[in-house]
Amino acid sequence: MYDLEDIETVGVVGAGTMGSGIAQVAATAGYDVVIRDIEAEFVEEGLDTVDSSLSKFVDKDELTAEEAEAARGRIEGTTDLVDLSDCDLVVEAAVEKMDIKQDIFADLDEVTDGDAVLATNTSTLSITTIAAATERPEAVVGIHFMNPVQLMEGVEIVVGEKTTDEVVELAHGFSEALGKTTWESDDKPGFVSNRILMPWINEGVRAFDEGVATKEDIDRGMKLGTNVPMGPLELADHIGLDICLDATQTLHEELGDRYKPAYLLKRKVEAGDLGKKTGEGFYEYD
Ligand code: NAD
Repeated sequence: MYDLEDIETVGVVGAGTMGSGIAQVAATAGYDVVIRDIEAEFVEEGLDTVDSSLSKFVDKDELTAEEAEAARGRIEGTTDLVDLSDCDLVVEAAVEKMDIKQDIFADLDEVTDGDAVLATNTSTLSITTIAAATERPEAVVGIHFMNPVQLMEGVEIVVGEKTTDEVVELAHGFSEALGKTTWESDDKPGFVSNRILMPWINEGVRAFDEGVATKEDIDRGMKLGTNVPMGPLELADHIGLDICLDATQTLHEELGDRYKPAYLLKRKVEAGDLGKKTGEGFYEYD
C-alpha cells in the first residue's frame, strides 16, 4: 500500500528554516512540492530562501541554471492546507509544539488520501503521540532532516509505536532518493541525535552564563579540542535558540533534571534573540 514508486507529489507544512530546505531538496530530486505556511508572508520568505539557496548551488556549479529553474518551478506555495490534498507524502516542519503538530496531523488526516504517508521533522517530540491525532498511526513516521537540509547528508528515521515496516522502508527510500544517508531511531525522547546534542549545547550555554569562559573560547575549545565543525553556542545560533529551548524542555520533561534548560537560553528566547534567523543570538549576524 505504501510504495516509494507511488510518491510523486510531496507536501511540506511550515516554510521556515527546515521546511524551505526540505521543499528545495525534494524539488531538486524531481518531486512536485506544495509548501504551506499560515501567512502568505511566511510562504514568500520560504520561497525566497529557496531562490537564494538554488542560486548558490548554480554559482558553485553544483546545479545548472536550467536545473535550478526546473526545481523552483516544481514548488508551489500556499496558505491553504487543502492544497496538500493530492500529496502522496507530507513532511511536517512547523514549530516544535505538540498541540500544533497534533492539530496539523488531524487536519492532514482529513485532507489527504488514506494512503498518503504523513511524516514529521520533529527534533524531539513523540511520533507515537503525534500519530495518535490521526486515524492512520501506521502511516506516521519521523523523517528528521538536519540543518541546513540542502547540505547535511544525514537523515534520522524515527519509528513510532504503530509505524509499519513498509512505511519505515519508504521513509528510508525517500530520504535516499533526496541524496541522503539515513539511520534509524526508536521513538524515545530526543531520538539518537538530539538526546546527545541538546545537553551538549545546553551545557555550553550554562558554561557561558556561569563565566567559565568567553563564548568565543567555549566554541574554540570545543572545535579544536573535540574536532567538531561548530562549538555549542555557534551551533545553537544556527539551529535557532527557540528550537533548542523547546527540544531541551521536552528532554527535561521526559527524562528529568539533567536536561533542565539553561537560564540564559530561556532569557535569550524571551528577549527574541533566536540566533541567525533574527540577526542576534550569542553572536551578531548581518
Ligand atoms: P522555523 O521557526 O524556522 O519555522 C517554522 C515555520 O512553521 C514558521 O514559518 C511558522 O510560521 C510555521 N508554522 C507554524 N504553525 C504552522 C501551521 N499550523 N501550519 C503551517 N506552518 C506553521 O522552525 P524550523 O527550524 O524550520 O523547525 C521546524 C521543525 O523542524 C521543528 O519541529 C524543529 O524541531 C525541527 N527541526 C529543526 C532543526 C533546526 O536546526 N532548526 C533541525 C531539525 C529539525
